Amino acid sequence: MNVPLLDLRPQLTALRPQILEAVTRVIDSTGYILGPEVSSLEQKIAQYCGAGYGVGLSSGTDALLVALMSLETGPGDLVLTTPYTFFATMGTILRVGAQPLFVDIEPKSFNIDPEQVAQALADDRKNGSRIKAIIPVHLYGQCADMQRLMALATEYDIPVIEDAAQAIGAECPYQEDGAVTWRRAGSMGLCGCFSFFPSKNLGGIGDGGMLTSSARHFVEIVQSNRNHGAEPKYYHSRVGGNFRLDPIQAAVLAVKLEYLDSWHAARRRNADRYRQLFNEAGLAENVVALPQAVYADASGADDHNHHIYNQFVILVPERDRLRQHLQEHAVGCEIYYPLCLHQQECLGPSLYQRQSLPVAEQAAASSLALPIYPELADEQLVYVVETIRRFYQTR
Ligand SMILES: *Cc1c(COP(=O)(O)O)cnc(C)c1O
Repeated sequence: MNVPLLDLRPQLTALRPQILEAVTRVIDSTGYILGPEVSSLEQKIAQYCGAGYGVGLSSGTDALLVALMSLETGPGDLVLTTPYTFFATMGTILRVGAQPLFVDIEPKSFNIDPEQVAQALADDRKNGSRIKAIIPVHLYGQCADMQRLMALATEYDIPVIEDAAQAIGAECPYQEDGAVTWRRAGSMGLCGCFSFFPSKNLGGIGDGGMLTSSARHFVEIVQSNRNHGAEPKYYHSRVGGNFRLDPIQAAVLAVKLEYLDSWHAARRRNADRYRQLFNEAGLAENVVALPQAVYADASGADDHNHHIYNQFVILVPERDRLRQHLQEHAVGCEIYYPLCLHQQECLGPSLYQRQSLPVAEQAAASSLALPIYPELADEQLVYVVETIRRFYQTR
């Protein structure tokens, strides 16, 4: 049996006529820059995420970049973030001339640890208040502890940019004005940054991204920055760039958005099935650490997107050998991420390399992502767990 890490073909096969119709419609319109397809998707995504506005952008990376540019983040500024995420989270901080400041992650969620954020903010206040923004990442499709992070951000009056690239539609309980509601990624901070890279839960047929926000003035700056800061045309009060979402991508994404919740649900079903199979195989007790859905509704009335499982990541002993074993048996898997950001060579020989962030480093040494895409067949899930069981049985 062959179980790829991700197979986009079943989705394409099911939606092919609608996707081709959408692409043809844009081509025939001869309107190839922004326009109605983009603004319509902006409204739909904003509504889906529970934010006031959406701004269509060229990628998730550019959404982060434009957010930082729009806050006028630059040399001398620090941006507080997690060391355990995709490179773009740090790359954009460095590209605007600021420096990342890392604190460790929580072991249960792989997301930034609010206790350490509190400490870093307190220290920063003593050291001249250089932290310009906080970027929590909703890693693998599960929200960071936004309740605590937003309370801290409010206390210190520092804007939060949610890196929601892996977490469109992910929900967490959020208390506001005495009532607890479920809020979606990208609706709690100043803004949320989304990616439509093909491997995300909502993926285009190329690159694309979006920023969501309910802060009107900030949104106007982002809109200006995505178009060279031109206001009006050919008059530039600020230096932006070309960060526009392509209308072909917008039209295709609008088709797919209709199915997103059913895909999320299928990924959650696969995750539940994995849990059951790992338990039955006797691996869940002390061999394989399964991902924890920290906001899962204990009542069993589990219709919330508490985790959208963009990735299903387990922690395992002998990770690299298991990975090889899975590859030899045609099971796709991947390491997200093998090296923490504070250890990346591009930072040069610096203080970062001496920083110890043990939880993130341990995750980088033992994490492995398994196939979780919606259309997986039950036999495939069974085969994945059986292949893992056989690996540990012979040890
Ligand atoms: C995918 C991703 C990005 C970047 O998105 P692109 O659209 O590929 O530029 C940023 N942050 C995280 C956490 C991601 O997973």
